[in-house]
Amino acid sequence: MPVDHQLIYELLEETVGPDYVSDDPAVLEAYSRTGWILGRKLKRRPGFVVLPSSVQEVQAIVRMANKYKVPFIPVGSFLHWSCQATYPETIILDFKRMDKILKIDEKNKYAVIEPYVTYTQLQAEAMKRGLWLPVPSSGGNTSVLANHLFCGSHFAMHRIPYYARAVLGVEWVLPSGEILKLGSAGYGDDYFWGEGPGPDLRGLMRGYVGALGGLGVVTKMAVRLYPWTGPDAFHCRGVFPEKVVEFPKDLAKLYLAIFPSTEDAVNALYEICRAEIGMSLHLLSTTMAMAPMAKSREEFLSLLEAFKDIKEFILFMSFKTSPRVMEYDRKVLQKIVEENKGYLIPDEMVESLQEGIPETIRSAVSMRILNPMGGYDVFRSWAESLDKLLDQLKQAKAFLEEKYPDFIHFYYMIPLELGHYGHIELSILYDPLTHLDEAMECQNVGIRQDAEQKMYVTGSAGPAHEILGPSYGNYQLLLRKIKKKLDPNNVSNPPYPIDITKT
Ligand SMILES: Cc1cc2nc3c(=O)[nH]c(=O)nc-3n(C[C@H](O)[C@H](O)[C@H](O)COP(=O)(O)OP(=O)(O)OC[C@H]3O[C@@H](n4cnc5c(N)ncnc54)[C@H](O)[C@@H]3O)c2cc1C
Repeated sequence: MPVDHQLIYELLEETVGPDYVSDDPAVLEAYSRTGWILGRKLKRRPGFVVLPSSVQEVQAIVRMANKYKVPFIPVGSFLHWSCQATYPETIILDFKRMDKILKIDEKNKYAVIEPYVTYTQLQAEAMKRGLWLPVPSSGGNTSVLANHLFCGSHFAMHRIPYYARAVLGVEWVLPSGEILKLGSAGYGDDYFWGEGPGPDLRGLMRGYVGALGGLGVVTKMAVRLYPWTGPDAFHCRGVFPEKVVEFPKDLAKLYLAIFPSTEDAVNALYEICRAEIGMSLHLLSTTMAMAPMAKSREEFLSLLEAFKDIKEFILFMSFKTSPRVMEYDRKVLQKIVEENKGYLIPDEMVESLQEGIPETIRSAVSMRILNPMGGYDVFRSWAESLDKLLDQLKQAKAFLEEKYPDFIHFYYMIPLELGHYGHIELSILYDPLTHLDEAMECQNVGIRQDAEQKMYVTGSAGPAHEILGPSYGNYQLLLRKIKKKLDPNNVSNPPYPIDITKT
């Protein structure tokens, strides 16, 4: 049945007021594609953009969407392509009016937030209270709640968990419009605890990667915070890479180590984890480090040429939880690097990089990764043991070099939770004017390889479930049942997390 556009507009206007709904083509155009280059292919204007101010307004919109069978999409900072409408007359729920930090509990170290609270906002407020949370490299501008629902990887995962494991109490408007509260929030109005009473449904709500707005709208969430020994605020001026930040020089220290082989580097990662030192630990390809620093494609390519003999390095960051801890970290790191045939780059040579530490703590550079070539995407990403990641990385790199020689690739590997497992992303850079179709094909090849090799995939979204499912106990059938049960009218960001119009 065709949607009566005018009727829906009037109902939205009644719900949120005339100032907070729009179907102006210029506004809709702005919501028609994200910063993610692959989204260009899916570009489509939504029907309406609406800014609710409360959970009651969200419920009313969701109920109305069900009644008239109009799809809706909850969005955060609108970075991922799953925020783009795939059906006509889609309603975009933009939470710019629901941007409050409702509580910071200093003693129990958590915050209760609305959907549009950004990392920068929450981190800055937390730091005033001796607390913090790391910002993912998607940037300080992204929504804490959206990122805790989707992905959730950050630079300090060596020490602080992947954010799927940092969600506490939740207020969730199901695709039907009913409210479901998870964790302690389900028992009273206290959000301090994520598990129980009753079954813990956070796996259903987000799993490892997220439901991409396909299972309703989360309107309130408690997230963990962590102890912070740095300043209450750090002021900055200018734009990266020329940004100047007032930040205590002795708060954190960066070390870079190079190794004769990736095996040696991974052995060193294991030992660093075993020693439980440091805040941040990465095996990083030099190409990835160069991408945000370069100011042009020419500069990027010449930096790659200049550093072509150093393919990768370990980046280790120590935090001053106490001066003795930093000294201990340094000694243990040095010993481990030497024992694994590595070489610690002298302090004077990494002096200028120390200036970049605040940029990792409150990241704003990641979109610069896209700049040098214009196109960026993740070819393959997994969560596995570090050894398994190493084997797969070698194979996948060799495959890219042979089959897609036009792409530049880079990777990073992070041991998670002191090495209990690890996360890796192997990404491609390409010119979207000439190589967009090839990049999309390459991504599909990657998903099929994951299915064949039965890797624990961390970046699967949307159609990937159909390809991966048969190799993993046909989980796509269960996912389809869940979507059908929770969203029988298929209005919550279809076709995510899976398309239920197919059998
Ligand atoms: C260059 C680049 C670097 C990146 N680096 C990282 C990284 O380091 N770590 C990482 O974790 N991710 C990363 N990402 C991936 C991803 O884009 C972000 O995790 C995510 O976009 C962050 O939040 P957002 O506010 O932009 O969410 P959005 O893109 O707005 O939303 C993400 C998904 O969540 C859904 N959603 C949003 N709000 C709600 C809600 N209230 N209820 C239910 N569903 C909702 C949306 O429908 C969408 O499907 C990166 C992306 C790019 C382009």
